[in-house]
Amino acid sequence: MEQARIDQLREDVRGEVIAPNDDSYDDARRVYNAMIDRRPAVVVRPANTTDVMTAVRCAGENDLPVAVRGGSHSVPGFGTADDAVVIDLSSRRGVRVDPGTQSARAEGGATWGDFDAAAHPFGLATTGGIISTTGVGGLTLGGGIGYLARGFGLSCDNLLSADVVTGDGSFHQASEKDDAELYWAIRGGGGNFGVVTSMEFRVHPVDQIYGGPMFFELEDAKEILKWFREFIVDAPEQFGGFPAFQIAPPLPFIPEERHGEPLCAVVSCWAGPLDQGADVLASVRDVATPVAEMVGPMPYPALNSAFDALVPPGLQHYWKANFVQELTDEAIEAHLVHGPKLPVVNSTVHIYPINGAVHQVQSDATAFAYRDANFATVIAGMWPDPADNEQNTQWVRDYYDATAPLSEEGGYVNFMADDDQGRVQSNYKGNYDRLAQLKRVYDPGNLFRFNQNIQPA
Ligand SMILES: Cc1cc2nc3c(=O)[nH]c(=O)nc-3n(C[C@H](O)[C@H](O)[C@H](O)COP(=O)(O)OP(=O)(O)OC[C@H]3O[C@@H](n4cnc5c(N)ncnc54)[C@H](O)[C@@H]3O)c2cc1C
Repeated sequence: MEQARIDQLREDVRGEVIAPNDDSYDDARRVYNAMIDRRPAVVVRPANTTDVMTAVRCAGENDLPVAVRGGSHSVPGFGTADDAVVIDLSSRRGVRVDPGTQSARAEGGATWGDFDAAAHPFGLATTGGIISTTGVGGLTLGGGIGYLARGFGLSCDNLLSADVVTGDGSFHQASEKDDAELYWAIRGGGGNFGVVTSMEFRVHPVDQIYGGPMFFELEDAKEILKWFREFIVDAPEQFGGFPAFQIAPPLPFIPEERHGEPLCAVVSCWAGPLDQGADVLASVRDVATPVAEMVGPMPYPALNSAFDALVPPGLQHYWKANFVQELTDEAIEAHLVHGPKLPVVNSTVHIYPINGAVHQVQSDATAFAYRDANFATVIAGMWPDPADNEQNTQWVRDYYDATAPLSEEGGYVNFMADDDQGRVQSNYKGNYDRLAQLKRVYDPGNLFRFNQNIQPA
């Protein structure tokens, strides 16, 4: 981008404009996944929505694409891009809770930690991610799976309205009554339709929960997975949680001699009456005796940040994902082959249940289409040393190759890799054509193309 145009952008916005010759450029182009090394034309940290409109228009006038960054957690590194205008919303993280209307409004760069910190003192929460450093924006726009999804639906199901700056730099307030098509598209359609500067959520009374992680021997993994697939069919909707494969981290509640060993885990969150929590979880104890556990009452944000230390910024990431109708015996066998081969403590495999309230929304009521799937599986490869890239990506690929034929064609856009672009139509099933038409309305030039990209029809 020419210097004169950068200077003009600096004149036009109230926030920060960082260009390649600035000292802060290397920091500003960096994202959470350390594998990503891209050089944007400019990084804008807006002070307000008008700055976002200005930056989008500037990109259009200069024929440059826009990369949007909220919490920076995109595994393919969509929050930065070569020769793009990056709009880094980490300068906009405010959250305002309205206990009267049981709603909360988050700015586009807020994280789930920001959201929980604002809502928990009111005894309120909504479905959010299980790691507190993840962005509210990216997670919600792709769908939003978390502990509370079986009870309250996906994060996007709790989105009441959003302020959106679309491809021509215009401002829209999208809700059920205004710009309803845009409102439909952003509930699952990812960052394809514009920059979301503010999101209003429905919040629910959730204060203390009963839950936490339990670790089991690998030899019990088969029975644990079989238990989970039965249990979750009619478990009360206040139960959220998932089975996982995880190397035992060096935590005080895990016997020291087991640290570093691959184990099977069940992570639970009971958001119903606290005194019922132990009973709800009783049936898993009939299946196997935990090697270690840290289960009990705790504030909801404590569980939502319990695993943050396992995934600090600066790891290498490569993930794959699928939706699953039925966790068949064959699928369980595939998990038993690949789960125990976890290469490092940061990597994990989670099988999230997405039944309950998620199924109460029709498949065509929001862009998120897989309302009939029962599980969303993620194979999350995360490791510290770039020298180990090949070994770790291979583990993810082998695991995925074994489980994909036993899964649906599509997967959850937020858990996907850069090389999954060929699956975008499958991810949206019957909703894809409508999304492609709306892309033509709101972003005909495909300015917002760093995402699981929907091509304008
Ligand atoms: C450690 C970790 C834990 C995770 N846990 C969960 C989980 O529990 N549940 C779950 O559902 N997903 C989870 N995810 C996946 C997560 O939903 C996606 O990575 C998501 O894209 C992250 O959003 P972000 O704002 O942090 O990322 P960014 O990299 O900042 O954004 C990713 C993309 O989202 C879009 N975007 C973000 N903010 C905006 C905005 N305000 N306006 C317009 N577009 C925007 C843009 O296309 C952007 O490129 C996790 C990811 C990681 C790395």
